[in-house]
Amino acid sequence: MSATHTGPVGFDLDLTLINSRQAILTSWTAVADELGVRIDLTEVDRRMGVKLEDEVSYWFPEHEQAAAADSYRRHYVRLAPELTFLLPGAEEALAAVQAAGERAVIITAKHPVSVAPSLDAVGLTADEVFMHVHGPEKAAVLARLGAAVYVGDTPADMAAALDGGAVAVGVPTGSFTSAELMAAGAASVLPSLLEFPAWYADFRAGSGLVDGQGAGPGQLRAEGEEVSR
Ligand SMILES: [Mg+2]
Repeated sequence: MSATHTGPVGFDLDLTLINSRQAILTSWTAVADELGVRIDLTEVDRRMGVKLEDEVSYWFPEHEQAAAADSYRRHYVRLAPELTFLLPGAEEALAAVQAAGERAVIITAKHPVSVAPSLDAVGLTADEVFMHVHGPEKAAVLARLGAAVYVGDTPADMAAALDGGAVAVGVPTGSFTSAELMAAGAASVLPSLLEFPAWYADFRAGSGLVDGQGAGPGQLRAEGEEVSR
């Protein structure tokens, strides 16, 4: 593997660093009530990670989509302070990157209007935050930064990492399984961000963890647990 082990580390936000599922689904319920449209939350959940503009296109005709997105964001900003939770290991993961002298950055599809209350709710800060980017747009940010690693919870995040020249690390804390993240190109899938600092230390040391060899006992145990999940 020729990937460099130095450079910024990018993190996805929703369901990678923060558990925003309740805020997202409750906001969709409020949108459905307000606009009188039936919205299947199971479907929303399955696509979690896409831009709001893309999700509204499943439920509203084109001329109503801007108003629907506005409604969603209004409810989201109201609900985020109560319904946003830090995922285990999030602070430690960002700190591990910074302790190594690298920048920890957040790269998210979320709109700035919703990012601020989400980060405030859990007291999370990063060296830089790139917002309202998804898929290939995330890859472009990663490439521009020269990012070494991108950590995310969706197959699209894994693809963005690879396209952006970064090592893809998955966490199955969103709507996708370890197997789906591996199939999308993850070099490693960690059970949670609690395991990130140890993985990152090995990665920095060039232990070969990135291509699945030389994994320490913790790593093997962690992946074993995921497989049987
Ligand atoms: Mg996500």
